[in-house]
Amino acid sequence: MNRHVVVIGAGAVGAISAIEALRAGLRVTLLDPGLPGGEQAASYGNAGWLSSHSVIPPAEPGVWRRLPRLIMDPLGPLAIRWNYLPQATPWLLRYIAAGWTAARIAATARALRSLLVDAPALHEGLARQAGVPQLIERRGLLHVYPSRADFEADALAWTIRRDNGVRWLELDAAALHRQERALHPRYQFGVLVPEAGHCRNPGAYVAALVAYARTLGAQWVSARATGFHIERGRLQAVRCDDTEVACDAAVVAAGAHSKALAARAQDRVPLESERGYHVVVESPEVMPQLPLMVSDCKLIATPMETGLRVAGQVEIAGLGAAPDWRRADILRDHLPSIFPALPREFPRDRLHNWLGHRPSTPDGRPCIGFARASSDIVYAFGHGHVGLVGSARTARVVAQLLSGCAPEIPLAPFDPRRFA
Ligand SMILES: Cc1cc2nc3c(=O)[nH]c(=O)nc-3n(C[C@H](O)[C@H](O)[C@H](O)COP(=O)(O)OP(=O)(O)OC[C@H]3O[C@@H](n4cnc5c(N)ncnc54)[C@H](O)[C@@H]3O)c2cc1C
Repeated sequence: MNRHVVVIGAGAVGAISAIEALRAGLRVTLLDPGLPGGEQAASYGNAGWLSSHSVIPPAEPGVWRRLPRLIMDPLGPLAIRWNYLPQATPWLLRYIAAGWTAARIAATARALRSLLVDAPALHEGLARQAGVPQLIERRGLLHVYPSRADFEADALAWTIRRDNGVRWLELDAAALHRQERALHPRYQFGVLVPEAGHCRNPGAYVAALVAYARTLGAQWVSARATGFHIERGRLQAVRCDDTEVACDAAVVAAGAHSKALAARAQDRVPLESERGYHVVVESPEVMPQLPLMVSDCKLIATPMETGLRVAGQVEIAGLGAAPDWRRADILRDHLPSIFPALPREFPRDRLHNWLGHRPSTPDGRPCIGFARASSDIVYAFGHGHVGLVGSARTARVVAQLLSGCAPEIPLAPFDPRRFA
């Protein structure tokens, strides 16, 4: 009988892990209390960037100098809720340490590049096999800056990207506005990364991936995992709220909710929710041609199947706190200063707001590897800002670990116990 694997969580990471495990000849059950592709998952509402060049972790040298201001400004692009500060402090200290030197950032960039380098092609293949080829585009991604000087202020990040093989085209004002006619004239410089791509509807993509996994033989169980039944180091079952699912192996791919499950498998992992928001404007008056990273507004504007999605903001407030929809309003209010043809006010029924939880480790690298309690349990969580793009290679590696094969990339940088 084939090894039976329960994949806990059906976001992008879990859905593709299920597909790769089935391809490796394993029997698979997908377990999630939510709907595939549903709004509960970060994979639903992200900016859709398949940015193989997103190798720079969020913490950068000198971030500690900005922390007091960030804590004081509840509506800034990175905010920490006062009442959550005591709980977040250990994570924040590790976050600051992870970005303390350029050398640490370069090490993370090398690791992330190995995970992301060919992600747009991998997702293109998956979308084709899942019957939704139209959801993945590979026409590049565009960073826009008010001036070349603003781009040069980002020199450390771009130098590290170049050292990792990322190539780009620099667009002067005329070339930028030929490419993006709807863009405000105050943007005078652009950086086009041709190797990257984007997903035009991440929720629909994940739903299609789960449906594809089911056609390959995956079982679906609508339940919330709570822990593991382990005897003498061997996994017997995944425990759920009301039941147990007997199995030989499990994958923890529950996104920002994975910390509690890892604790049940004897691992203390510093995983925090970097809460993010999006606003979708239905039937917008104008659309960008390509997804844009708008440097001065610290947001991404992506042309989606469902409308214009503007996503961003980082809020450290835990998994349970109520959304602060003023953050979504900030994203919306930036829009006319990016696309002058958009109105200042939209009728409420043309806007859709969303809050999601980036599953973030302090160093910006996911946890991929075996649990302490049992090598039958494989971790695949903590992808922070790069979980959509990073899901494809992660899933291949997960299947290799489950099958006892050597992983195709070095896993030391993603060791779940590197924080111990
Ligand atoms: C505003 C925003 C913009 C972003 N933009 C991008 C981007 O452009 N590109 C990119 O690559 N990444 C982006 N990200 C990050 C990306 O969305 C996440 O890293 C990624 O979706 C994480 O995928 P996941 O499968 O690990 O987790 P999730 O998508 O969160 O899925 C986890 C699943 O586990 C389930 N679950 C939770 N607990 C349990 C349990 N106990 N038992 C069973 N199931 C459980 C949940 O219901 C959920 O379906 C963005 C995130 C945000 C918030």
